[in-house]
Amino acid sequence: MPKERKSSLEINKESFRKIGYQLIDDISEFIGSIDQQAVTPNESPNQLQSILGNGSLPESGMSESELMAKATDLLFNHSLFNGHPKFLGYITSSAAPIGALGDLLASSVNPNVGAQILSPIATEIEKQTVRWLCEFIGVPTNYAGILVSGGNMANFTAFLAARTAKAPANIKEDGMQGTSGKLTVYCSKSTHTWIDKAVVLFGLGSKSVRWIETDDANQMNTKALEDSIKTDLANGCQPIMVIGTAGDVSTGVVDNLVDIAAVCKQYNLWFHIDGAYGVPAAVIPEFKDLFKGMEDADSIAMDPHKWLYSPLEAGCTLVKNPKHLMDTYSSHPEYYNFSNNEEDKSLNFYEYGFQNSRGFRALKVWLALQQIGRSGYEKLISEDIALSKFLFELSNKHLELEAVSQNLSITTFRYIPEGQDLSETYLNRLNETLLNELQAGGEVFLSNAVVKEKYCLRACIVNFRTSEKDIEEIIEIVVREGGRVHSELHMD
Ligand SMILES: *Cc1c(COP(=O)(O)O)cnc(C)c1O
Repeated sequence: MPKERKSSLEINKESFRKIGYQLIDDISEFIGSIDQQAVTPNESPNQLQSILGNGSLPESGMSESELMAKATDLLFNHSLFNGHPKFLGYITSSAAPIGALGDLLASSVNPNVGAQILSPIATEIEKQTVRWLCEFIGVPTNYAGILVSGGNMANFTAFLAARTAKAPANIKEDGMQGTSGKLTVYCSKSTHTWIDKAVVLFGLGSKSVRWIETDDANQMNTKALEDSIKTDLANGCQPIMVIGTAGDVSTGVVDNLVDIAAVCKQYNLWFHIDGAYGVPAAVIPEFKDLFKGMEDADSIAMDPHKWLYSPLEAGCTLVKNPKHLMDTYSSHPEYYNFSNNEEDKSLNFYEYGFQNSRGFRALKVWLALQQIGRSGYEKLISEDIALSKFLFELSNKHLELEAVSQNLSITTFRYIPEGQDLSETYLNRLNETLLNELQAGGEVFLSNAVVKEKYCLRACIVNFRTSEKDIEEIIEIVVREGGRVHSELHMD
């Protein structure tokens, strides 16, 4: 080897600048014209594979500028754009452009935010981000927290902390054997599917879940919750936690958190809130009451890559008492020379969650929080909610649409051809077919929800690019396509 190493992976300063400027130019164009693109080109995996080709692993390298041009072309021309103003499917937000810049900066410096010593300023920025998220939703800033990859991971991180806190004290040594399968957890029937994974992952098993029925408002029936806990106690089970949802994934309903908190207090259970979608709405003063009871939660899951418009991935777990994270996740192998200094408040984030090496996902969240501030978020989230209500009103007024539900920024509605006596079975089939046609068509992207056995179109607005004009156009598209699909189904 020569004394001076010249690595093929290095890009010299001049080239990096040139390629980088080109990339930034292309991204600016992309963001500036995203509303003029189709939401999705709707290409099949086969088509895409033929575009990528089936070449084997390259033996040698190629020019960086050509490579980046190829990658930009692939992504801009063959992607679904969740940043499109008419993308209202699932709960995936448009991404704040500052987050893209943040990610570039974060990966350039590449701090490992697992340990304070490896990420001095990044760790402090993550701590500050967590504190600001507490202020954002209105819980005390002494909650402990950690950024994770998303809502599922945020809920898992809290779930395992709850298990450590409420299961028999020997659970960390003896595992689940010592509990003879008796630990039980409680959540409503509208709880997100993360719970299915959590009980498998953490050894409780799917039979440990008590799916509490919901009332007419689709909130957890707290009377049924208490009955279920009593029955389990009488049968020798050990209830450990109740999960309340703050914005359910189908229709956006927030559980009665005050009542659930009271039940948890009475039976000494861990109170977890899944606020992955809805909890940022607590930033709006008029919504304070809706989220009342949140301050009694032992843990809260939130998801900045949803309603804080952070680019994927960013979730966050907040825990009232930091001890519960340390009790669950901390370990001190001899090969880590990482101190926990009470005095200077050092913190090694690997001791707070599942990950060891960790990227700097806090940066993009921290940037957007400062770019527009609390008031900026209050405005955007309020507007999303207003647009969702506007969609509900328009579909309510329209003779060929039925408005079904509206909570937070989720509206469900369906297409019903005028003046015909059609069965519910047919209407469900019609709307399901319509949804598939809309998703493939690329004009608008909605998802679905089944509300009181009605198959509905579902629009979730966590999109700072959507405007009233988009909502009006979506109504027109749905009615036009609904009519077309109906006439085609009728000819079958
Ligand atoms: C989206 C969502 C999740 C899952 O979050 P991911 O970021 O997709 O992992 C969990 N719970 C609720 C209520 C959600 O809306």
